[in-house]
Amino acid sequence: TNLRGLNRTALAGFVRDVLGEDEAVALRLFKEIWQRGATSFDHMPTLRKSFRDTLAEHATLDELPLARTLHSKDGTIKFLWGLEEGRTIESVLIPDGHRVTLCISSQVGCAMACTFCLTGDMGLIRHLTTAEIVGQPYQVQRYLGDSMRITNLVLMGMGEPLHNLPALVPALQICLDEHALNYSHRRVTVSTVGLVPKIAELANALPVNLAISLNATTEAHRRQIMPVTRKYSMQQLLDQCRTVKLPRGKRITFEYVMFAGENDTLEDAERLRLLLEGIPAKVNLIPYNENPGRPQLKRPSDEVVKAFQHHLVMHGTSCSIRTTRGIDISAACGQLGKTAA
Ligand code: SAH
Repeated sequence: TNLRGLNRTALAGFVRDVLGEDEAVALRLFKEIWQRGATSFDHMPTLRKSFRDTLAEHATLDELPLARTLHSKDGTIKFLWGLEEGRTIESVLIPDGHRVTLCISSQVGCAMACTFCLTGDMGLIRHLTTAEIVGQPYQVQRYLGDSMRITNLVLMGMGEPLHNLPALVPALQICLDEHALNYSHRRVTVSTVGLVPKIAELANALPVNLAISLNATTEAHRRQIMPVTRKYSMQQLLDQCRTVKLPRGKRITFEYVMFAGENDTLEDAERLRLLLEGIPAKVNLIPYNENPGRPQLKRPSDEVVKAFQHHLVMHGTSCSIRTTRGIDISAACGQLGKTAA
């Protein structure tokens, strides 16, 4: 058993069932792992030797091997992690003044096949384990040391996080746990293409922020670019957003990738505004990051993006524009998955 894959409750169960020790011992072990940064069972000063010896027979503390880092001119850093089977996954660190965001992957590849996203081209290779998901923020922070503190986590890397809830939920519980990584739920965001039944499941399990990749204002256009819409229509998705129980004051972020001439007119902006009526929403516009494999898809001009934002804001819908970061190291939205280790 890799102890890095167990949340506090699961670790307590393991310590009780396999080692016959109580919850207080399990909590000390949990803190040794996540807060004191133990890398082996030899260096856990708060636990006695006989317990650590038995532990070593039954458990491991496996980490993600760091294959390499790529540094962008704009300060973004991409981390490539080598998995056992020789594949890699990626995390992206985005420093922006006081805000330092880490973008985390949840799967190797992705099954959602959105036509504009390079990760989608890979298909789903496998789900990441809990240890592999929580290992990303844990190990990036250790890599940074005192130089920088990660302030925000976003599940916007490779994969569809709601397609991997059984591994994601315990990983996020470790991120939020005051005795582990201790992130505030206000600073953790899960982004989804809109796996409708899983939205309520996530909301019931954890109080984290929710982001929906909407990207279209008509069913037909969304079906064309996001095949998941054939299973769950945009209307079903928006209805779910209208009814899901959110913690007080929380709003849902709607990500909207803008493609020149496809979904970037003021009529689109107005349709988007109407679609979101009645939902506590904010919009995040993402100007499309072009890639050579999709020559027909173009990024709109800054003026077009600004006009779209202006329309929403003037009509009372909060709307921000996502700054493109890490484009020179293929770390921007939709570019993950093609970098060799
Ligand atoms: N599967 C989840 C998590 C990934 S988030 C989801 O889709 O929400 C990745 C974000 O980048 C999504 O909002 C997606 O719509 C956006 N994206 C994908 N390809 C892009 C591209 N080429 N340019 C800009 N944004 C892109």
